[in-house]
Amino acid sequence: MTNYNAPPDEAALREEIAAIGRGFRQLGVAPGTSGNISAKLADGWLMTPTNASLGALNPEEISKLDWDGNLLSGKPPTKESFLHAAFYEARPETGGIIHLHATHSSAVSCLAGLDADSCLPPITPYFVMRVGRLPLIPYYRPGDPELGTAVRAYAAKYPAVLLSNHGPIVAGKNLEAARNAIEELEETAKLFLLLHGHKTRSLDESDIEELRQVFNANW
Ligand code: ZN
Repeated sequence: MTNYNAPPDEAALREEIAAIGRGFRQLGVAPGTSGNISAKLADGWLMTPTNASLGALNPEEISKLDWDGNLLSGKPPTKESFLHAAFYEARPETGGIIHLHATHSSAVSCLAGLDADSCLPPITPYFVMRVGRLPLIPYYRPGDPELGTAVRAYAAKYPAVLLSNHGPIVAGKNLEAARNAIEELEETAKLFLLLHGHKTRSLDESDIEELRQVFNANW
């Protein structure tokens, strides 16, 4: 079992990023060259490369960046690396970050009339515990640095956000936590879409308060 209290081992993290990418491809949540994964090191951070398929990552080609964004090794990083940088800056406890264009959460990000405080309602305790409130970030064109500014404004308070007409970004204390949270988010988005048009019971305030007390839920 990995000891996440030990200093992160770069070679092991490169392998873990590639393994998570293969898992996403199998789940069908990383179509084409969409999505990116990063992990914090003692002397910088690892970031998946530009135009890379998450299902076929070569661990040695994963980009290593310093905290000024300079490439130290590997291929050039994804053009979405500034989204990850915004989270690392705002949430120092972050060890891993994942961004996907997964079908169901991306579909939700295109809906009109979403609650900007949390795009998904508290329909299951697992979503409340593993993800928490999911704020909606307004639409910006791909690569617009203003998107980084908008994400940074939410990242200190929320470990997960949904980018309008785009997809989710989730930060975790380590890669495994980020992967579990983004998979939970995608499943919740799927349930939310399946329930559309059905009378639905969301968790009420006392249900959520219990989850805060027992599981330290961030809602
Ligand atoms: Zn994206």
